[in-house]
Amino acid sequence: MQLPSKPKTPLADEDKEKIARMILAIEAIKKETARRGLGKGKGGHGGMPCPVPGCRGRVAFIVYVMNGHVMASCTVKGCVQFRE
Ligand SMILES: [Zn+2]
Repeated sequence: MQLPSKPKTPLADEDKEKIARMILAIEAIKKETARRGLGKGKGGHGGMPCPVPGCRGRVAFIVYVMNGHVMASCTVKGCVQFRE
């Protein structure tokens, strides 16, 4: 028996690459905020060099005291930008 194949929305390779880079960058930023002891109950903000390979921007981040969520964005347009 064969299951009908579901239609997939194909992603261009560069999109996949971009998403992979974003995920790595988000992990690196969260690691850095954790290293600084920021999280729920201890909010704060700071900056770090952008962890995206080849990017020469800086990432500014904010950690919310209420829930420990992180919001961050790179100074380079189109680079990492996220909020939890
Ligand atoms: Zn960047």
